[in-house]
Amino acid sequence: MVDTLRHKGMRARLIEKIRNKGISDERVLQAMLNIPRHFFMPKGFDERAYQDNAFPIGAEQTISQPFTVAFQTMLLDVQPKEKVLEIGTGSGYQSAVLLEMGAKVFTIERHKVLYLSAQKRLTQLGYAPYCFFGDGFLGMPTYGPFDKIIITAGAPHIPQALKEQLKMGGTIVIPVNGGKAQKMIAGIKVSETEFEYTDFGNFAFVPMLKGKV
Ligand code: SAH
Repeated sequence: MVDTLRHKGMRARLIEKIRNKGISDERVLQAMLNIPRHFFMPKGFDERAYQDNAFPIGAEQTISQPFTVAFQTMLLDVQPKEKVLEIGTGSGYQSAVLLEMGAKVFTIERHKVLYLSAQKRLTQLGYAPYCFFGDGFLGMPTYGPFDKIIITAGAPHIPQALKEQLKMGGTIVIPVNGGKAQKMIAGIKVSETEFEYTDFGNFAFVPMLKGKV
């Protein structure tokens, strides 16, 4: 795949659009400006890669809408070298944004095909993520605790294992079910058993499902 001047131009316009929708974190915008999103989409949909929409990536899953990726990443407030756990690798695009910002990324996907292709794609782009095939409800206890945790599928509730694997003072960003749409929740771990939650309104995600396939 190539990243032409045309792609770069379309990408710059997309980033401006996202900025105008309220994303003010320059580090997030810069990371997204650096990453060729069309590499993460099925071949032949280059124009669609630079529209602010979710898009099917196979296995009935989608690459998240760019604004949503930017919004979740902004809430996560990732700092270089931080350990970030992501649930729902999908295409690997959100992982790339976190990696581009200097995070150490541990990402879990329950679809074997998506796990394999995202791992290959991220490695080809020169990133060094820790990709796992498994069930995100369980997290990744052997590699925790994590500074930040991000869930990119609509969760029925905040999984207990993920709460436990977050460092004290750490942030979890998770879309939680509230009917058809999800509420974007950011939680800060303030004690072993307590979190302070903020609700950032409605978003739409594919569901977080149990087990692996
Ligand atoms: N972050 C992705 C978005 C993918 S959509 C991207 O940037 O492209 C959400 C993904 O979560 C899907 O690929 C889906 O298969 C995965 N998923 C759903 N439930 C899961 C679970 N319990 N554990 C791990 N992955 C899960």
